[in-house]
Amino acid sequence: MKLTIAALGLLIATGAPAATVVTAAHLFDPVKGLTLDNPIIVVDDKGRVQSLVTGNNARPNIPADAKRIDLGDVTILPGLIDMHVHLTADPTLSGYQGLEYTDNFWTVVGVANAKKTLEAGFTTVRNVGSSNYDDVAIKQAIEHGYVAGPRIMPATYAIGATGGHCNSTEFPPSVKVDSPNIANSPEGFRALVRTLRKYGAEVIKVCMTGGVLSKTDSVGAQQLSYEEIKAIVDEAHMLGLRVAIHAHGTAGINDGLRAGVDTIEHASLADDESFKLAKAHGAWFTMDIYDDDYILAEGAKNGVFAESLAKEKAVGLKQRQTFRAAHAAGVKLIFGTDAGVYPNGLNARQFAKMVEWGMTPVEAIRAATSEAAIALNRADDVGQLTPGHYADIVAVSGDPTRDVRLLEKPTWVLKGGQVVTAPGR
Ligand SMILES: [Zn+2]
Repeated sequence: MKLTIAALGLLIATGAPAATVVTAAHLFDPVKGLTLDNPIIVVDDKGRVQSLVTGNNARPNIPADAKRIDLGDVTILPGLIDMHVHLTADPTLSGYQGLEYTDNFWTVVGVANAKKTLEAGFTTVRNVGSSNYDDVAIKQAIEHGYVAGPRIMPATYAIGATGGHCNSTEFPPSVKVDSPNIANSPEGFRALVRTLRKYGAEVIKVCMTGGVLSKTDSVGAQQLSYEEIKAIVDEAHMLGLRVAIHAHGTAGINDGLRAGVDTIEHASLADDESFKLAKAHGAWFTMDIYDDDYILAEGAKNGVFAESLAKEKAVGLKQRQTFRAAHAAGVKLIFGTDAGVYPNGLNARQFAKMVEWGMTPVEAIRAATSEAAIALNRADDVGQLTPGHYADIVAVSGDPTRDVRLLEKPTWVLKGGQVVTAPGR
């Protein structure tokens, strides 16, 4: 290509984006499970890690024009991943209050929540359910630089059966609500998977059993047949997508695992058979064990239905006990909070709960970095800071493997080589 004089002038004026060198006192490496001293990370002009060295004698190859960022006495680690968020939800508008707002109001809520999530150190999220392809829109706007937010893996609509957790069940029969996410046969679900993928879904989210915050269903009841979930899994896997199922109830969890789903969301009433099946099939559990505290403390004030609060009371503690048992049994657990059910941006509050209920801090951090990246099918991109991965970095003042609550207050965040939050904010 021949450059015109004007184009050449522009190139010289703006300059090629330079490399960035990030240094700090310590680095937590989730893959090795170790804290290493004096890391030097060279980030290339595409926002990817070019090299990472540690130790006093490290001498990396640093480009002469590189921008330097020395963070001082902090611990840096890979950007955090939340496997279960709803960016377009606001828990303070629960129950029927949502009806006061126009449809696209929730897109705007999602834009604000995306920024909060990123500033909280979560550089990647899996958004497992939103309406109107909002999560795809927000992802596109972030990628084009219109708004700030994490990398988003969108599920678009969560799909389910008539009268199930993902259907709008809070209206009388005379009120017709658009339900493009509902099917009632294996063929119907196959068609839904194809449609969602066509419009941007990168993971398929299915409401397999009843839920807590939905009206009229019982939390443990299975809502899709084995044949239906099998059709979804076969179709999604054929298209290269993973399947996440919302499942509190035992029978639904186990039929889902037998059908080959990839992640079980909530998993509250999982039993020994579930643990065996999950391990045999290599599935992960995503257990949102912080939000019970928020729902029980704030739910009534926020307008959560009384029957939902009763369901939360019945299942919240049980879910934490199941988390401890699943961990002891060796089930793979990943970090997913259901943020949206509690305020987005407070995602990191779950780390302390995971440690309280049986994980080591190292395991909890892995669940939100390297292990989450594997479950996302993005292990080549995110979740660790080896060369070739995105330079998504969080800094905390202290040792998060001694105190995971430090992750609730990151002092600095980098996403794809771009500084999100300045030091000492
Ligand atoms: Zn959810």
